[in-house]
Amino acid sequence: MPNREHFVAIIGGAVAGSVAAEILADHGIRVAVIEQNKRPYGKIEDGLPRWHAEQRRQEYERIDARLRKPGIYYVPCTRLGRDVEFDDLCDNWGFSAVILANGAWRDRDLGVPESEKYIDRGLIYQNPFIYWYNHKNEKSYDGPRYEAPDEALVVGGGLASIDVVKILQLENYERALKARGVQTSMHDLERKGIPAICKQHGFRPEELGVKGCLLVYRRREQDMPLAQPPENATPDQVAKTEAVRQKMLRLAREKYLFRFQERRLTTGLVVEEGRVAGLRVVETRVEGRKAEPVPGSEQELRAPLVISSIGSVPEVIPGICMKGEYYTFKGELLPQYGTSDHVFGVGNVVSGQGNIRVSLVHAQAVTTQIVENYIGVGNGNSDLSGWYAAAEARGAAQATALQERVEALPGLSESQLAALETRIRAFQERAGYLSGYDSWIAAQTPPDLE
Ligand SMILES: Cc1cc2nc3c(=O)[nH]c(=O)nc-3n(C[C@H](O)[C@H](O)[C@H](O)COP(=O)(O)OP(=O)(O)OC[C@H]3O[C@@H](n4cnc5c(N)ncnc54)[C@H](O)[C@@H]3O)c2cc1C
Repeated sequence: MPNREHFVAIIGGAVAGSVAAEILADHGIRVAVIEQNKRPYGKIEDGLPRWHAEQRRQEYERIDARLRKPGIYYVPCTRLGRDVEFDDLCDNWGFSAVILANGAWRDRDLGVPESEKYIDRGLIYQNPFIYWYNHKNEKSYDGPRYEAPDEALVVGGGLASIDVVKILQLENYERALKARGVQTSMHDLERKGIPAICKQHGFRPEELGVKGCLLVYRRREQDMPLAQPPENATPDQVAKTEAVRQKMLRLAREKYLFRFQERRLTTGLVVEEGRVAGLRVVETRVEGRKAEPVPGSEQELRAPLVISSIGSVPEVIPGICMKGEYYTFKGELLPQYGTSDHVFGVGNVVSGQGNIRVSLVHAQAVTTQIVENYIGVGNGNSDLSGWYAAAEARGAAQATALQERVEALPGLSESQLAALETRIRAFQERAGYLSGYDSWIAAQTPPDLE
């Protein structure tokens, strides 16, 4: 009997990576989960702001439950592109497949001349700012520290930019209340809202002297990507989604008191004494998806800090070919990387966007295809008719190509499996990972992690 055993590498151990690992392990496939950080929780720990305490705890538990399964080799502190080369991993290590689940950690460029020169000099990006916010109170935190000054300017419009303005407002009101001898908690301010907490302590918010940060968005408020219409939406459904977006913005502003300007396109930086002191913006005229600058409407918006929150895209990793801001995945239903037939993508890394559920469902769907149609070890019980129909409707040759693949991928030999295991163990040892998933996580969890 030929050996039917397979070994798959997954890059990134968070929502998408852990879901993929669990499905593979449940099919008797060995999995190496290569994670750059000590802990595998990705955007749950470092993106989702820490006021989502209960949701974060539950997601950690879900990820732990998946990653502690037998057959999964967790490899922490190992970064693709630094400790492991992409081409080497895909071409030489001998894995049956490689699944990229490394998310979207690169902030989209602000897109004005010289902006990269002023990073940390009056200009910062969303991802490091939220990382700081989530970890800043830990004794062991030694990363960059940021201020959250009043009247900061945030460029954005999506859900993450609302989190950024919330952070600024919570920090400023907590500070202002403290200066008046009132100790509040971030959790109370976030849950009940700034006006309610001020009232509880006998203040009107305007008495505290906080002017509030300003969020600028290039289109109209009803265009903000805070809610999405269904696919092929009717005009009525589009109108409803626009109303939902406006309501979400209004409620957030009532609760957190930030300022907002719509139809403002960033055209340049205001620089003083080597630091960003604001932005040059121009008004826009919005028609459909187009936001055209209105000539003669240029103005300066001055601010002690500018935070760019205009979306995240996958990081550039040496060896990975890019198509614009994204990796060269082809095929919507089974994102296959470039010309390689055994490298796939799941979760945020594919589109840069999404949420916890989207990453989870995407990883489930793609990994099921990989197991059943690429590796060919599934039980064939999944209903794939919709998948083939959809792929064929898109004119994709992929469905047929993979159908031919079923049962065709040879298993790895004993010596190939042993060689992979030896390499993986060496990386685990290098990281100090010696005694299993649970004891590692317990040892790596800061005692004061919020
Ligand atoms: C501010 C903010 C607020 C959000 N709020 C919500 C919300 O309220 N609800 C919601 O559902 N979603 C929310 N999201 C989105 C949600 O957190 C993500 O969509 C989801 O968690 C992404 O999961 P993922 O597994 O695809 O990617 P990630 O969580 O990004 O996981 C990628 C993993 O890969 C690792 N990795 C990256 N590069 C490498 C490398 N080179 N080598 C090895 N490992 C690597 C990372 O460390 C990480 O563990 C929010 C996101 C942000 C930023």
